[in-house]
Amino acid sequence: MTRIAVIGCGGLGVPAAWTLALGGARQLRLIDPDAVELSNLHRQIAYGEADIGQPKVQALAHWLKKRFAGMDIQVVQQRAQAAGLDALLDGCDAVLEGTDDANSKFHVNDWAVVKPRRRVATIAAAIGRRGQHFTVTPTGACYRCLFEAPPPEELLSTCSVAGVLGPTVGQVGALAATSLLHALRGQADPAQSALLRVGPRGLLRTAVQPAADCLCRR
Ligand SMILES: [Zn+2]
Repeated sequence: MTRIAVIGCGGLGVPAAWTLALGGARQLRLIDPDAVELSNLHRQIAYGEADIGQPKVQALAHWLKKRFAGMDIQVVQQRAQAAGLDALLDGCDAVLEGTDDANSKFHVNDWAVVKPRRRVATIAAAIGRRGQHFTVTPTGACYRCLFEAPPPEELLSTCSVAGVLGPTVGQVGALAATSLLHALRGQADPAQSALLRVGPRGLLRTAVQPAADCLCRR
């Protein structure tokens, strides 16, 4: 399997990385600028009190290697931004995006759909008791077919403002990683794009058609 980048090693990235490892991924690149904080521990199960103040990428790599000794894990302690994203993801064929930054999701989408070599990316988000994920594939719709652009900053809730439920991010992170693995293995129909939502009433699947004037069609 190819090298997969996990952008964001928090509530979504931790269960996503674990699920990727369970699914056979052995080459990861963990990317996150932050250190472990006490408030993370209830939902970011890779980390314990002894990790507080340590870079998340280091603590997560250490946790994964305790269970999967042969894993090849690269760590990059920095924020993934549009500038330099190509270099940051050099050598990766797929990305799991699980930050709480709406702009980052569009940057990863654009990295995935750029021609001539379109790549696979799963974009996940969670807030409160709800979460969602969407997988960009070479022949399907992309994140911009669904959401043309990030919402204005003033409309964005963050985990620190709205809170996020531990089981919700655990579920969404694991489901997102499973979707990415299916896409990479050709087990999902790459043309059948869908937004998968997790909420208090269960799972909801909404089919997404490619938008004719979207970046991904050019
Ligand atoms: Zn598109």
